[in-house]
Amino acid sequence: MIRIYLSDTAYENDIYPLVKAFYPEEDIKVSEITDKNMDVCAGTGNDSASTIRISIECGSAGIFITDGTGKRHESAIDVPNPEKDRQAHKNAIKRGLYGILSSLTGKELPWGILTGIRPVKLVYEMLEKGAGEEAIFDKMAEEYLCSREKTETSIQIARRELEILTEMDYKNGYSLYIGIPFCPSTCLYCSFTSYSIEKHGDLVEDYLNALEKELRYGSTCFPDKKLSTVYLGGGTPTTLSARQLDRLLWLIKDLYDFTHVREFCVEAGRPDSITREKLEVIKSHGVNRISVNPQSMQQRTLDLIGRRHTVEQINDAFRMARDLGFDNINMDIIIGLLGETPSDVRDTLEKIRPLDPESLTVHTLAIKRAARLNIEKDQYRGLRAQNTAEMLRITREYACKNGYLPYYLYRQKNMEDNLENIGYARHGREGLYNILIMEEKQTILAMGAGAMSKFVFHDMNKIERVENVKALKDYIGRIDEMINRKKEFLLNNPGL
Ligand code: SF4
Repeated sequence: MIRIYLSDTAYENDIYPLVKAFYPEEDIKVSEITDKNMDVCAGTGNDSASTIRISIECGSAGIFITDGTGKRHESAIDVPNPEKDRQAHKNAIKRGLYGILSSLTGKELPWGILTGIRPVKLVYEMLEKGAGEEAIFDKMAEEYLCSREKTETSIQIARRELEILTEMDYKNGYSLYIGIPFCPSTCLYCSFTSYSIEKHGDLVEDYLNALEKELRYGSTCFPDKKLSTVYLGGGTPTTLSARQLDRLLWLIKDLYDFTHVREFCVEAGRPDSITREKLEVIKSHGVNRISVNPQSMQQRTLDLIGRRHTVEQINDAFRMARDLGFDNINMDIIIGLLGETPSDVRDTLEKIRPLDPESLTVHTLAIKRAARLNIEKDQYRGLRAQNTAEMLRITREYACKNGYLPYYLYRQKNMEDNLENIGYARHGREGLYNILIMEEKQTILAMGAGAMSKFVFHDMNKIERVENVKALKDYIGRIDEMINRKKEFLLNNPGL
Protein backbone atom coordinates (compact mmCIF):
# COMPACT_ATOMS: atom_id res chain seq x y z
CA MET A 1 0.00 0.00 0.00
CA ILE A 2 1.28 3.43 -0.93
CA ARG A 3 -0.17 6.34 1.02
CA ILE A 4 -0.26 9.73 -0.62
CA TYR A 5 -0.81 12.79 1.54
CA LEU A 6 -1.62 16.04 -0.19
CA SER A 7 -1.94 19.52 1.25
CA ASP A 8 -4.83 19.95 -1.20
CA THR A 9 -6.75 16.91 -2.46
CA ALA A 10 -7.80 18.87 -5.55
CA TYR A 11 -4.51 17.54 -6.98
CA GLU A 12 -5.55 13.90 -6.53
CA ASN A 13 -6.47 13.37 -10.19
CA ASP A 14 -3.01 14.54 -11.23
CA ILE A 15 -0.90 12.79 -8.62
CA TYR A 16 -2.68 9.44 -8.23
CA PRO A 17 -2.41 8.27 -11.88
CA LEU A 18 1.25 9.24 -12.05
CA VAL A 19 2.12 7.25 -8.94
CA LYS A 20 -0.04 4.35 -10.22
CA ALA A 21 1.89 4.40 -13.50
CA PHE A 22 5.12 3.76 -11.59
CA TYR A 23 3.57 1.21 -9.23
CA PRO A 24 0.76 -0.51 -11.20
CA GLU A 25 0.39 -3.43 -8.80
CA GLU A 26 0.18 -1.38 -5.60
CA ASP A 27 -2.97 -0.24 -3.87
CA ILE A 28 -2.84 3.50 -3.35
CA LYS A 29 -4.68 5.63 -0.83
CA VAL A 30 -4.87 9.40 -1.05
CA SER A 31 -5.59 11.61 1.99
CA GLU A 32 -5.21 15.20 3.03
CA ILE A 33 -2.27 16.16 5.22
CA THR A 34 -3.46 16.78 8.76
CA ASP A 35 -1.69 17.42 12.09
CA LYS A 36 -2.46 13.82 12.97
CA ASN A 37 -0.74 12.18 10.00
CA MET A 38 2.30 14.47 9.87
CA ASP A 39 4.45 11.86 11.63
CA VAL A 40 3.41 9.12 9.24
CA CYS A 41 4.29 11.40 6.37
CA ALA A 42 7.71 12.10 7.75
CA GLY A 43 8.42 8.40 8.10
CA THR A 44 8.92 8.52 11.84
CA GLY A 45 5.67 6.78 12.71
CA ASN A 46 5.27 3.03 12.95
CA ASP A 47 3.67 2.68 9.53
CA SER A 48 6.11 0.77 7.35
CA ALA A 49 4.30 1.42 4.06
CA SER A 50 5.79 3.89 1.58
CA THR A 51 4.41 7.37 1.82
CA ILE A 52 4.41 10.34 -0.48
CA ARG A 53 3.75 13.76 0.95
CA ILE A 54 3.27 16.76 -1.27
CA SER A 55 2.84 20.22 0.20
CA ILE A 56 1.88 22.84 -2.32
CA GLU A 57 2.02 26.53 -1.68
CA CYS A 58 1.58 29.32 -4.14
CA GLY A 59 5.11 29.48 -5.57
CA SER A 60 6.63 26.17 -4.45
CA ALA A 61 6.00 22.50 -3.82
CA GLY A 62 7.77 20.21 -1.39
CA ILE A 63 7.78 16.52 -2.30
CA PHE A 64 8.81 14.05 0.42
CA ILE A 65 8.88 10.35 -0.23
CA THR A 66 9.57 7.72 2.38
CA ASP A 67 10.33 4.32 0.91
CA GLY A 68 9.58 0.96 2.52
CA THR A 69 12.87 1.00 4.41
CA GLY A 70 12.11 4.38 5.95
CA LYS A 71 14.64 6.23 3.81
CA ARG A 72 13.58 9.73 2.78
CA HIS A 73 13.84 11.29 -0.66
CA GLU A 74 12.85 14.87 -1.11
CA SER A 75 12.73 17.71 -3.52
CA ALA A 76 11.65 21.33 -3.29
CA ILE A 77 10.65 22.94 -6.55
CA ASP A 78 9.51 26.33 -7.75
CA VAL A 79 6.14 26.16 -9.45
CA PRO A 80 4.30 28.74 -11.59
CA ASN A 81 1.47 30.64 -9.98
CA PRO A 82 -1.72 28.57 -10.38
CA GLU A 83 -3.79 31.74 -10.73
CA LYS A 84 -1.86 32.60 -13.89
CA ASP A 85 -1.49 29.15 -15.45
CA ARG A 86 -3.03 26.25 -13.61
CA GLN A 87 -1.86 23.66 -16.12
CA ALA A 88 1.77 24.81 -16.04
CA HIS A 89 1.58 24.81 -12.23
CA LYS A 90 0.35 21.21 -12.13
CA ASN A 91 2.85 20.09 -14.76
CA ALA A 92 5.74 21.45 -12.68
CA ILE A 93 4.58 19.49 -9.62
CA LYS A 94 4.17 16.34 -11.70
CA ARG A 95 7.65 16.74 -13.18
CA GLY A 96 9.11 17.07 -9.68
CA LEU A 97 7.33 13.92 -8.56
CA TYR A 98 8.27 12.08 -11.75
CA GLY A 99 11.96 12.85 -11.16
CA ILE A 100 12.00 11.22 -7.73
CA LEU A 101 9.83 8.24 -8.69
CA SER A 102 11.90 7.61 -11.79
CA SER A 103 15.17 7.52 -9.86
CA LEU A 104 13.57 5.36 -7.13
CA THR A 105 12.17 2.78 -9.53
CA GLY A 106 14.66 3.08 -12.40
CA LYS A 107 11.65 3.44 -14.75
CA GLU A 108 11.02 5.94 -17.51
CA LEU A 109 7.42 6.37 -18.64
CA PRO A 110 7.10 6.69 -22.42
CA TRP A 111 4.36 9.27 -22.05
CA GLY A 112 6.20 11.13 -19.28
CA ILE A 113 3.83 12.98 -16.98
CA LEU A 114 0.91 12.73 -19.40
CA THR A 115 -1.74 10.69 -17.66
CA GLY A 116 -4.81 11.90 -19.56
CA ILE A 117 -6.88 10.02 -22.08
CA ARG A 118 -6.10 12.17 -25.11
CA PRO A 119 -2.42 12.98 -25.49
CA VAL A 120 -2.83 13.55 -29.25
CA LYS A 121 -5.22 16.41 -28.57
CA LEU A 122 -2.31 18.49 -27.27
CA VAL A 123 -0.33 17.92 -30.43
CA TYR A 124 -3.38 18.47 -32.60
CA GLU A 125 -3.96 21.86 -31.00
CA MET A 126 -0.31 22.82 -31.47
CA LEU A 127 -0.48 21.86 -35.16
CA GLU A 128 -3.74 23.78 -35.56
CA LYS A 129 -1.98 26.86 -34.20
CA GLY A 130 0.75 26.41 -36.80
CA ALA A 131 3.54 24.99 -34.59
CA GLY A 132 6.40 23.27 -36.42
CA GLU A 133 7.47 19.71 -35.64
CA GLU A 134 10.63 20.63 -33.76
CA ALA A 135 8.73 23.07 -31.55
CA ILE A 136 6.26 20.28 -30.77
CA PHE A 137 9.04 17.80 -29.95
CA ASP A 138 10.62 20.40 -27.63
CA LYS A 139 7.38 21.23 -25.88
CA MET A 140 6.41 17.56 -25.40
CA ALA A 141 9.85 16.73 -24.02
CA GLU A 142 10.32 19.74 -21.77
CA GLU A 143 6.82 20.28 -20.47
CA TYR A 144 5.57 16.67 -20.37
CA LEU A 145 8.77 14.57 -20.41
CA CYS A 146 7.19 12.66 -23.28
CA SER A 147 9.49 10.37 -25.29
CA ARG A 148 10.43 11.27 -28.84
CA GLU A 149 8.80 8.08 -30.11
CA LYS A 150 5.41 8.85 -28.56
CA THR A 151 5.55 12.43 -29.78
CA GLU A 152 6.38 11.19 -33.26
CA THR A 153 3.34 8.88 -33.25
CA SER A 154 1.17 11.70 -31.90
CA ILE A 155 2.27 14.07 -34.65
CA GLN A 156 1.62 11.44 -37.32
CA ILE A 157 -1.88 10.80 -35.96
CA ALA A 158 -2.73 14.45 -35.42
CA ARG A 159 -1.71 15.25 -39.01
CA ARG A 160 -3.91 12.46 -40.34
CA GLU A 161 -6.84 13.58 -38.18
CA LEU A 162 -6.44 17.19 -39.27
CA GLU A 163 -6.51 16.11 -42.90
CA ILE A 164 -9.64 14.00 -42.41
CA LEU A 165 -11.48 16.55 -40.33
CA THR A 166 -10.69 19.38 -42.73
CA GLU A 167 -12.60 17.42 -45.38
CA MET A 168 -15.63 17.10 -43.08
CA ASP A 169 -18.08 19.81 -42.14
CA TYR A 170 -17.94 18.46 -38.60
CA LYS A 171 -18.82 21.73 -36.86
CA ASN A 172 -22.25 21.81 -38.49
CA GLY A 173 -22.90 18.15 -37.93
CA TYR A 174 -23.46 15.64 -35.18
CA SER A 175 -23.05 11.90 -34.73
CA LEU A 176 -25.21 9.24 -33.25
CA TYR A 177 -24.14 6.49 -30.87
CA ILE A 178 -26.56 3.67 -30.09
CA GLY A 179 -25.65 1.14 -27.41
CA ILE A 180 -26.84 -2.47 -27.35
CA PRO A 181 -25.76 -3.76 -23.95
CA PHE A 182 -25.98 -7.50 -24.64
CA CYS A 183 -23.20 -10.01 -25.30
CA PRO A 184 -23.05 -13.79 -25.73
CA SER A 185 -20.98 -14.05 -22.51
CA THR A 186 -19.01 -11.63 -20.38
CA CYS A 187 -15.30 -11.35 -21.12
CA LEU A 188 -13.00 -11.50 -18.13
CA TYR A 189 -11.66 -7.97 -18.64
CA CYS A 190 -14.98 -6.34 -19.55
CA SER A 191 -15.99 -3.11 -17.86
CA PHE A 192 -18.58 -1.96 -20.39
CA THR A 193 -22.32 -1.92 -19.92
CA SER A 194 -22.90 -5.49 -21.01
CA TYR A 195 -25.37 -8.19 -20.02
CA SER A 196 -25.19 -11.84 -20.95
CA ILE A 197 -27.91 -12.61 -23.46
CA GLU A 198 -28.41 -16.02 -21.84
CA LYS A 199 -29.40 -14.45 -18.54
CA HIS A 200 -31.08 -11.29 -19.73
CA GLY A 201 -32.49 -12.27 -23.14
CA ASP A 202 -36.04 -11.79 -21.85
CA LEU A 203 -35.37 -8.05 -21.53
CA VAL A 204 -34.27 -7.46 -25.11
CA GLU A 205 -37.71 -6.53 -26.46
CA ASP A 206 -38.37 -4.12 -23.58
CA TYR A 207 -34.94 -2.63 -24.15
CA LEU A 208 -35.60 -2.10 -27.84
CA ASN A 209 -38.96 -0.48 -27.03
CA ALA A 210 -37.27 1.95 -24.65
CA LEU A 211 -34.52 2.61 -27.19
CA GLU A 212 -37.09 3.29 -29.86
CA LYS A 213 -38.60 5.96 -27.65
CA GLU A 214 -35.22 7.59 -27.13
CA LEU A 215 -34.36 7.36 -30.83
CA ARG A 216 -37.64 9.03 -31.74
CA TYR A 217 -36.90 11.88 -29.39
CA GLY A 218 -33.27 12.06 -30.61
CA SER A 219 -34.40 12.55 -34.20
CA THR A 220 -36.00 15.87 -33.19
CA CYS A 221 -32.92 17.29 -31.42
CA PHE A 222 -30.93 18.83 -34.25
CA PRO A 223 -33.15 19.73 -37.20
CA ASP A 224 -30.50 22.15 -38.50
CA LYS A 225 -27.48 19.90 -38.18
CA LYS A 226 -26.29 17.26 -40.62
CA LEU A 227 -25.86 13.74 -39.34
CA SER A 228 -22.22 12.74 -40.03
CA THR A 229 -21.71 9.26 -38.58
CA VAL A 230 -23.77 6.57 -36.87
CA TYR A 231 -22.19 4.01 -34.58
CA LEU A 232 -23.98 0.98 -33.21
CA GLY A 233 -21.88 -0.35 -30.35
CA GLY A 234 -22.26 -1.89 -26.96
CA GLY A 235 -22.08 -4.65 -25.84
CA THR A 236 -22.38 -6.51 -29.09
CA PRO A 237 -25.20 -5.34 -31.38
CA THR A 238 -25.11 -8.60 -33.35
CA THR A 239 -26.27 -10.40 -30.21
CA LEU A 240 -29.73 -9.23 -31.32
CA SER A 241 -31.60 -11.60 -33.62
CA ALA A 242 -31.75 -10.84 -37.34
CA ARG A 243 -35.35 -9.73 -36.88
CA GLN A 244 -34.49 -7.42 -34.00
CA LEU A 245 -31.54 -5.96 -35.91
CA ASP A 246 -33.79 -5.38 -38.89
CA ARG A 247 -36.34 -3.58 -36.74
CA LEU A 248 -33.68 -1.36 -35.15
CA LEU A 249 -31.80 -0.48 -38.33
CA TRP A 250 -35.03 0.14 -40.22
CA LEU A 251 -36.13 2.52 -37.46
CA ILE A 252 -32.84 4.43 -37.45
CA LYS A 253 -32.95 4.88 -41.22
CA ASP A 254 -36.58 5.93 -41.05
CA LEU A 255 -36.09 8.51 -38.30
CA TYR A 256 -32.81 10.14 -39.30
CA ASP A 257 -31.72 11.88 -42.47
CA PHE A 258 -28.82 9.86 -43.91
CA THR A 259 -28.09 12.24 -46.81
CA HIS A 260 -24.78 13.38 -45.32
CA VAL A 261 -23.84 10.26 -43.33
CA ARG A 262 -20.25 9.32 -44.18
CA GLU A 263 -20.02 6.30 -41.93
CA PHE A 264 -22.60 3.83 -40.64
CA CYS A 265 -20.79 1.38 -38.41
CA VAL A 266 -22.01 -1.70 -36.57
CA GLU A 267 -19.86 -3.56 -34.11
CA ALA A 268 -20.18 -7.23 -34.89
CA GLY A 269 -17.54 -7.76 -32.25
CA ARG A 270 -18.12 -11.29 -31.11
CA PRO A 271 -17.82 -13.88 -33.90
CA ASP A 272 -20.12 -16.18 -31.91
CA SER A 273 -22.93 -13.66 -32.44
CA ILE A 274 -22.55 -13.39 -36.21
CA THR A 275 -24.70 -15.26 -38.72
CA ARG A 276 -25.10 -14.85 -42.47
CA GLU A 277 -28.68 -13.72 -41.99
CA LYS A 278 -27.65 -10.95 -39.57
CA LEU A 279 -24.88 -9.75 -41.85
CA GLU A 280 -27.34 -9.68 -44.76
CA VAL A 281 -29.72 -7.55 -42.71
CA ILE A 282 -26.92 -5.17 -41.74
CA LYS A 283 -25.75 -4.87 -45.33
CA SER A 284 -29.27 -4.28 -46.62
CA HIS A 285 -29.55 -1.16 -44.44
CA GLY A 286 -26.42 0.43 -45.89
CA VAL A 287 -24.00 -0.21 -43.04
CA ASN A 288 -20.57 0.52 -44.54
CA ARG A 289 -18.20 -0.43 -41.73
CA ILE A 290 -18.24 -3.35 -39.33
CA SER A 291 -15.90 -4.67 -36.71
CA VAL A 292 -15.15 -8.35 -36.19
CA ASN A 293 -12.98 -8.59 -33.11
CA PRO A 294 -10.74 -11.55 -32.36
CA GLN A 295 -8.81 -9.88 -29.47
CA SER A 296 -6.42 -12.81 -29.82
CA MET A 297 -6.01 -15.68 -32.29
CA GLN A 298 -4.73 -17.96 -29.51
CA GLN A 299 -7.38 -20.49 -28.54
CA ARG A 300 -6.09 -20.94 -25.00
CA THR A 301 -6.31 -17.17 -24.48
CA LEU A 302 -9.84 -17.00 -25.86
CA ASP A 303 -10.85 -19.80 -23.48
CA LEU A 304 -9.16 -18.10 -20.54
CA ILE A 305 -10.78 -14.71 -21.11
CA GLY A 306 -14.28 -16.16 -21.46
CA ARG A 307 -14.85 -15.39 -25.13
CA ARG A 308 -16.50 -18.77 -25.73
CA HIS A 309 -15.68 -18.92 -29.43
CA THR A 310 -12.99 -20.50 -31.54
CA VAL A 311 -10.33 -19.08 -33.82
CA GLU A 312 -12.11 -20.85 -36.66
CA GLN A 313 -15.32 -18.93 -35.90
CA ILE A 314 -13.39 -15.67 -36.24
CA ASN A 315 -12.09 -16.72 -39.66
CA ASP A 316 -15.53 -17.92 -40.76
CA ALA A 317 -17.33 -14.76 -39.61
CA PHE A 318 -14.80 -12.54 -41.32
CA ARG A 319 -14.92 -14.47 -44.60
CA MET A 320 -18.70 -14.50 -44.54
CA ALA A 321 -18.72 -10.71 -44.19
CA ARG A 322 -16.28 -10.39 -47.10
CA ASP A 323 -18.40 -12.70 -49.26
CA LEU A 324 -21.39 -10.49 -48.61
CA GLY A 325 -19.51 -7.45 -49.87
CA PHE A 326 -18.36 -5.69 -46.70
CA ASP A 327 -15.29 -3.81 -47.84
CA ASN A 328 -14.45 -1.91 -44.67
CA ILE A 329 -13.89 -4.35 -41.82
CA ASN A 330 -12.02 -3.55 -38.64
CA MET A 331 -10.46 -6.08 -36.31
CA ASP A 332 -9.65 -5.34 -32.66
CA ILE A 333 -6.89 -7.08 -30.78
CA ILE A 334 -5.74 -6.70 -27.19
CA ILE A 335 -2.14 -6.90 -26.12
CA GLY A 336 -1.20 -7.85 -22.57
CA LEU A 337 -3.84 -10.57 -22.30
CA LEU A 338 -3.32 -13.19 -19.62
CA GLY A 339 -0.44 -15.51 -20.21
CA GLU A 340 0.40 -14.08 -23.61
CA THR A 341 3.93 -13.46 -24.81
CA PRO A 342 5.25 -11.32 -27.67
CA SER A 343 5.41 -14.43 -29.85
CA ASP A 344 1.68 -15.03 -29.26
CA VAL A 345 1.00 -11.51 -30.48
CA ARG A 346 3.21 -12.12 -33.52
CA ASP A 347 1.30 -15.33 -34.23
CA THR A 348 -2.07 -13.59 -33.83
CA LEU A 349 -1.02 -10.99 -36.39
CA GLU A 350 0.17 -13.69 -38.77
CA LYS A 351 -3.24 -15.34 -38.50
CA ILE A 352 -4.98 -12.04 -39.18
CA ARG A 353 -2.80 -11.25 -42.20
CA PRO A 354 -4.64 -13.49 -44.73
CA LEU A 355 -7.96 -11.92 -43.72
CA ASP A 356 -6.59 -8.52 -44.67
CA PRO A 357 -8.93 -6.24 -42.69
CA GLU A 358 -9.04 -2.56 -43.68
CA SER A 359 -8.24 -1.48 -40.16
CA LEU A 360 -6.69 -2.94 -37.07
CA THR A 361 -7.26 -1.52 -33.62
CA VAL A 362 -4.69 -2.45 -31.01
CA HIS A 363 -5.80 -2.13 -27.41
CA THR A 364 -3.52 -2.49 -24.43
CA LEU A 365 -5.19 -4.41 -21.63
CA ALA A 366 -6.61 -2.06 -19.01
CA ILE A 367 -7.97 -3.70 -15.90
CA LYS A 368 -10.83 -1.61 -14.62
CA ARG A 369 -12.19 -1.87 -11.12
CA ALA A 370 -15.53 -3.43 -12.16
CA ALA A 371 -13.98 -6.11 -14.40
CA ARG A 372 -14.06 -9.73 -13.27
CA LEU A 373 -10.33 -9.80 -13.89
CA ASN A 374 -9.89 -7.24 -11.13
CA ILE A 375 -12.43 -8.74 -8.75
CA GLU A 376 -10.90 -12.22 -9.11
CA LYS A 377 -7.33 -10.94 -9.54
CA ASP A 378 -5.74 -13.34 -7.06
CA GLN A 379 -6.79 -16.24 -9.27
CA TYR A 380 -4.87 -14.81 -12.23
CA ARG A 381 -1.90 -13.27 -10.47
CA GLY A 382 0.75 -15.49 -12.09
CA LEU A 383 -0.66 -14.95 -15.57
CA ARG A 384 0.00 -11.23 -16.02
CA ALA A 385 1.61 -10.69 -19.41
CA GLN A 386 5.17 -9.46 -19.53
CA ASN A 387 6.77 -7.23 -22.16
CA THR A 388 3.63 -5.37 -23.18
CA ALA A 389 5.77 -2.57 -24.62
CA GLU A 390 7.47 -5.14 -26.86
CA MET A 391 4.05 -6.40 -27.99
CA LEU A 392 3.03 -2.87 -28.88
CA ARG A 393 6.23 -2.51 -30.89
CA ILE A 394 5.43 -5.73 -32.78
CA THR A 395 1.95 -4.49 -33.68
CA ARG A 396 3.34 -1.14 -34.84
CA GLU A 397 5.89 -2.87 -37.03
CA TYR A 398 3.25 -5.19 -38.46
CA ALA A 399 0.90 -2.27 -39.19
CA CYS A 400 3.65 -0.33 -40.90
CA LYS A 401 4.76 -3.28 -43.06
CA ASN A 402 1.21 -4.10 -44.10
CA GLY A 403 0.12 -0.67 -45.26
CA TYR A 404 -1.72 0.57 -42.18
CA LEU A 405 -1.26 4.06 -40.75
CA PRO A 406 -2.09 5.12 -37.21
CA TYR A 407 -5.09 7.45 -37.17
CA TYR A 408 -6.34 7.66 -33.60
CA LEU A 409 -4.97 7.01 -30.17
CA TYR A 410 -6.29 7.10 -26.67
CA ARG A 411 -5.30 5.96 -23.23
CA GLN A 412 -7.22 4.56 -20.31
CA LYS A 413 -6.60 4.28 -16.62
CA ASN A 414 -4.67 1.23 -15.41
CA MET A 415 -3.28 0.24 -18.78
CA GLU A 416 -0.50 -2.31 -18.75
CA ASP A 417 2.85 -0.51 -18.79
CA ASN A 418 1.02 2.81 -19.00
CA LEU A 419 0.75 2.44 -22.78
CA GLU A 420 -2.06 3.26 -25.20
CA ASN A 421 -4.69 2.05 -27.69
CA ILE A 422 -4.01 2.79 -31.34
CA GLY A 423 -6.23 2.52 -34.36
CA TYR A 424 -4.46 1.70 -37.62
CA ALA A 425 -6.16 1.88 -40.99
CA ARG A 426 -5.48 1.77 -44.68
CA HIS A 427 -5.67 5.19 -46.26
CA GLY A 428 -9.31 6.26 -46.59
CA ARG A 429 -10.60 3.49 -44.31
CA GLU A 430 -10.23 5.27 -40.99
CA GLY A 431 -13.10 5.02 -38.52
CA LEU A 432 -14.47 8.57 -38.63
CA TYR A 433 -16.59 8.17 -35.51
CA ASN A 434 -13.49 7.12 -33.58
CA ILE A 435 -11.71 10.34 -34.50
CA LEU A 436 -14.72 12.52 -33.74
CA ILE A 437 -15.24 11.04 -30.31
CA MET A 438 -11.60 10.84 -29.34
CA GLU A 439 -10.73 14.37 -30.37
CA GLU A 440 -14.05 15.63 -28.99
CA LYS A 441 -14.67 17.49 -32.21
CA GLN A 442 -18.37 16.91 -32.66
CA THR A 443 -21.54 16.55 -30.63
CA ILE A 444 -22.38 12.89 -30.09
CA LEU A 445 -25.98 12.13 -29.29
CA ALA A 446 -25.82 8.86 -27.41
CA MET A 447 -28.75 6.50 -26.87
CA GLY A 448 -29.13 3.39 -24.78
CA ALA A 449 -28.15 2.10 -21.34
CA GLY A 450 -24.93 3.68 -20.08
CA ALA A 451 -24.59 5.88 -23.16
CA MET A 452 -23.09 9.30 -22.61
CA SER A 453 -23.94 12.17 -24.90
CA LYS A 454 -21.26 14.80 -25.43
CA PHE A 455 -22.24 18.25 -26.53
CA VAL A 456 -19.46 20.30 -28.10
CA PHE A 457 -19.63 24.10 -27.87
CA HIS A 458 -17.15 25.09 -30.56
CA ASP A 459 -17.23 28.82 -29.82
CA MET A 460 -16.54 28.37 -26.14
CA ASN A 461 -14.13 25.45 -26.50
CA LYS A 462 -16.20 23.50 -23.99
CA ILE A 463 -17.84 20.10 -23.74
CA GLU A 464 -20.83 19.12 -21.62
CA ARG A 465 -21.94 15.58 -20.94
CA VAL A 466 -25.37 14.07 -20.34
CA GLU A 467 -25.38 10.50 -19.14
CA ASN A 468 -27.94 7.71 -19.28
CA VAL A 469 -28.26 5.25 -16.42
CA LYS A 470 -26.21 2.08 -16.87
CA ALA A 471 -28.40 -0.63 -15.40
CA LEU A 472 -30.61 -2.32 -17.95
CA LYS A 473 -33.79 -2.36 -15.87
CA ASP A 474 -33.26 1.25 -14.79
CA TYR A 475 -32.86 2.32 -18.39
CA ILE A 476 -36.05 0.54 -19.42
CA GLY A 477 -38.03 1.77 -16.41
CA ARG A 478 -36.71 5.34 -16.48
CA ILE A 479 -36.62 5.98 -20.21
CA ASP A 480 -38.77 9.13 -19.92
CA GLU A 481 -36.30 10.52 -17.42
CA MET A 482 -33.39 9.79 -19.82
CA ILE A 483 -35.20 11.67 -22.57
CA ASN A 484 -35.99 14.54 -20.21
CA ARG A 485 -32.33 14.83 -19.20
CA LYS A 486 -31.43 15.55 -22.82
CA LYS A 487 -34.50 17.69 -23.39
CA GLU A 488 -33.75 19.87 -20.40
CA PHE A 489 -30.11 20.22 -21.35
CA LEU A 490 -30.95 21.28 -24.88
CA LEU A 491 -33.61 23.73 -23.66
CA ASN A 492 -31.00 25.35 -21.45
CA ASN A 493 -28.48 25.49 -24.28
CA PRO A 494 -30.43 26.76 -27.28
CA GLY A 495 -27.27 27.87 -29.12
CA LEU A 496 -25.98 24.34 -29.64
S1 SF4 B 1 -17.59 -8.46 -26.16
FE1 SF4 B 1 -16.92 -6.47 -25.38
S2 SF4 B 1 -18.74 -5.62 -24.37
FE2 SF4 B 1 -19.08 -7.82 -24.64
S3 SF4 B 1 -18.44 -8.77 -22.74
FE3 SF4 B 1 -16.69 -8.83 -24.14
S4 SF4 B 1 -15.57 -6.95 -23.69
FE4 SF4 B 1 -17.58 -6.71 -22.81
